[in-house]
Amino acid sequence: MAVALPSFFTAIMIMSRLMAFIGISKNNDMCSKLQALDIAPKLSYDPSAIESASQDFGHIVKAVPQAVLLPSSPRDIASLVNFSYSNSVPFSIAARGNSHSVNGQAMAKNGVVIDMTSMKNGNGTGIRIASDGSYADVGGEQLWIDVLNATLGLGLTPVSWTDYLYLTIGGTLSNAGISGQTFRYGPQISNVYEIDVITGTADFVTCSPNNNSDLFYAALGGLGQFGIITRARIPLEPAPKRVKWVRMLYADFSDFTRDQELLISKNGRNDNKALNYLEGSLLLDQGSLDNWRSSFFPPQDQPKIISLITKFRIVYCLEIVKHYDGQTKTTVDKDLQQLLKGLSYLPGFMFEKDAKYEEFLNRVHSEELKLKAKGLWDVPHPWLNLFIPKSKISDFNDGVFKSIVLQRNITTGPVLVYPMNRKKWDDRMSAVIPDEEIFYTVGLLQSSAFDDWRTFEDQNKEILQFCEKAGIKVKQYLPHYTTKEGWVSHFGSKWSTFQKRKLQFDPKLLLSPGQRIFNNNQ
Ligand code: FAD
Repeated sequence: MAVALPSFFTAIMIMSRLMAFIGISKNNDMCSKLQALDIAPKLSYDPSAIESASQDFGHIVKAVPQAVLLPSSPRDIASLVNFSYSNSVPFSIAARGNSHSVNGQAMAKNGVVIDMTSMKNGNGTGIRIASDGSYADVGGEQLWIDVLNATLGLGLTPVSWTDYLYLTIGGTLSNAGISGQTFRYGPQISNVYEIDVITGTADFVTCSPNNNSDLFYAALGGLGQFGIITRARIPLEPAPKRVKWVRMLYADFSDFTRDQELLISKNGRNDNKALNYLEGSLLLDQGSLDNWRSSFFPPQDQPKIISLITKFRIVYCLEIVKHYDGQTKTTVDKDLQQLLKGLSYLPGFMFEKDAKYEEFLNRVHSEELKLKAKGLWDVPHPWLNLFIPKSKISDFNDGVFKSIVLQRNITTGPVLVYPMNRKKWDDRMSAVIPDEEIFYTVGLLQSSAFDDWRTFEDQNKEILQFCEKAGIKVKQYLPHYTTKEGWVSHFGSKWSTFQKRKLQFDPKLLLSPGQRIFNNNQ
């Protein structure tokens, strides 16, 4: 390809500005052309469909599309993309999974939003489990909770999860899909054998590490920029029956992180003695002990935990899980004791639960239902998710948790802090992580009232500014930038590959415009 990348993208940007300028008449033109397509009956202009495609879980950003496609097969999706790609004035297209982004990533201003969930009632892949049980073929529109239920029915399970399961396969694979299993099994994008993708040129491509590998690595963690994932082949393993679920409290951050790092050092995929899950979180004075990450602490122990928080203002909570089944029932306690021997949690502050495997995995949902009942779920979510190199996590604790968060005293909702192993990620994929072997994820998963999310966004900005000044090279997870410079710095050494892949797989910049990577002028 002889076109120089920057001038190519500049030309496309000028074109898209021009398109925005001549907006209304072109939009009308686009709508009338869409009417002539075979998929016309599946395009909705219904105000409620448009309204719902203009919003997301964040309730902060709004972008109104022209239409919503309700596809019943990958062919419908390819048909729409092909129409836009071949049009003299192409329009943008966003796949919308379960719309649980928080910054408009699944929106398409003046374009068409594809409501992926409508494929569930159509002729997509659905959830098909291989006869030997080694993998499941799953439609990109499927929710992880449905994959869990379908596989458990056969005594099988995927191994890498997110904390919350009402997210689509396509949505989490476009980011990474992380949780307490990541330290051992890698993120969800490290647990995919193959995917089907409809690219921005409307090609339908099956790809894997051995077949069209460029597109495979581009799409995983690719923020929806290279194609729409319509199927993923996910490895399965025998499912455990139950879990031992433990939380331990710390007043000292270095004790807490030392123990977390010790525990994740035992991370062999087939090492039956290793933990299956490890996370951590902050207990704050202003927070509630039982936020949406699940009620856990026994009511009779809550007064002493509250006194501890009042005394230290921040208490660190290490959370681990060990799976077991009929065979390991008699040894699991001993194995767990062995793993926890010598840890420095506060004496008397270890709490244990025994739960069904699926109850543990679906733990956030019961809290979701409680918050929904109180009208506290569909509210603004000014979230900040960061990856922080291990060498700077103590500086982050001092400058952010102990200073900014305590001084501002506004943080409500879970604050997660847990480490992962870089070697479990594949650097060929688009997802971006820090350079060090161990890095932490920190998630400030805040809820706010409709009139005060800006106060939280200000705190998020202050945190990012502090990191910049203190030389803490953070990477955002579920990244959100409004300038090209922001994205270039986010991708770092991966930027030129990301750009080249965009030119190859979506040269007209049609896909997932809500990420604002190649169209941040709008
Ligand atoms: P959407 O928000 O609908 O889409 C996200 C992006 O992916 C958009 O750019 C969209 O265009 C694109 N996209 C959607 N479908 C496809 C497809 N089939 N092919 C290509 N691109 C597509 N994340 C974690 O990693 N771990 C967690 O534990 C976790 N917990 C969460 C808990 C809650 C309560 C919420 C709201 C979010 C959580 N997330 C977590 C974040 C979540 O993984 C991402 O926001 C994810 O993108 C949401 O999935 P979705 O199906 O709603 O995607």
